[in-house]
Amino acid sequence: MKLRALFRTGMGIIGPARPLILYHKPTARCDCRCKFCDFWVHQPQQDDALPTEKILSLLGQARAAGMTMYTVWGGEPLLVEPLPEWLGRASKLGMMTTVCTSGFRLPERAPELAANVNQLLLSLEAVGARQDQIRATPGLFDRLTRGLHEFKRRSKGDVIIWSNLSRANRDQVEEIARLAKDEKVGLEFFPMSLYPGYNEKLVFDHRERGEVFSEVLALKRRGYPISNTFYALELMRSGRPFQCNLARLAVQVDSNGDLYACEPRVIPDLAPYGRLGELDLKSFPASEAYRQARMRLASCNACLLPCVANMADSLLLQALRRLFNRFYYRSHF
Ligand code: SF4
Ligand code: SF4
Repeated sequence: MKLRALFRTGMGIIGPARPLILYHKPTARCDCRCKFCDFWVHQPQQDDALPTEKILSLLGQARAAGMTMYTVWGGEPLLVEPLPEWLGRASKLGMMTTVCTSGFRLPERAPELAANVNQLLLSLEAVGARQDQIRATPGLFDRLTRGLHEFKRRSKGDVIIWSNLSRANRDQVEEIARLAKDEKVGLEFFPMSLYPGYNEKLVFDHRERGEVFSEVLALKRRGYPISNTFYALELMRSGRPFQCNLARLAVQVDSNGDLYACEPRVIPDLAPYGRLGELDLKSFPASEAYRQARMRLASCNACLLPCVANMADSLLLQALRRLFNRFYYRSHF
């Protein structure tokens, strides 16, 4: 992490509550057809990205409000043409940038992204043709690996495989860990979240989840480059309640320009904070809406993405665990 951003993030964690991360879904479109996600079913047919001047202004406001991280996900962010310009601006403002992608368009887009992406999160549920089947996207695994090599050749940014575990890929855990080791990239696992009416059949029950994450913990102990902390993996294994700090740490901008405390698809009754251009991010930390969202969502527990597990419960202790984990892996891989 850039040193100044690291310092400002540390101050944001120990100081009064304020958001540090700007999550942005630049589009609701996607070029995969994943069996466990209904995003692509309802996607718009045309380019739905907001105008670049609005995004650049948002980034300026976010930075002025003390935010230190800009993360784009989706939908599929690599479908958005001006994305490199947005990332370049965030980088220039001193923010840490993260892109989460299926990797389908990475071979073509890696050259434009490489200079301004600090962390690339590559979604991967299986090795080889199984990945194409699970995401119903022919050629995906081949394109993802080519894009990974292209990105690594051009960028000093970290690459982390994000692997969503469910009954569809229960048997792939060790293969994915081996791939991460061979490619010398990080790896974070997480249990699939429930999208009611869509993926009930795939989500682990309590026993299955315990078994799978015990296996992940064992692989981490054997030296595979699994970058989830032991704490986060224990949380995933046990299924115990945790304190979610996401609403304290982040604001999410939806592809339509609404700002939320979290993901309205997972929390259907979540009302937006307001609209892009109308919500003042600088005065936002003192608002009642922010205070109420923090209180309400602290006990949400509806998902356990790696970033959520890495920030669960005590923020300060988690930050220290993350630092230790990072230096440990930097010195081993
Ligand atoms: S790539 Fe992501 S957004 Fe697209 S269909 Fe798959 S899980 Fe959903
Ligand atoms: S647990 Fe709930 S509030 Fe926390 S990140 Fe997941 S969906 Fe959002």
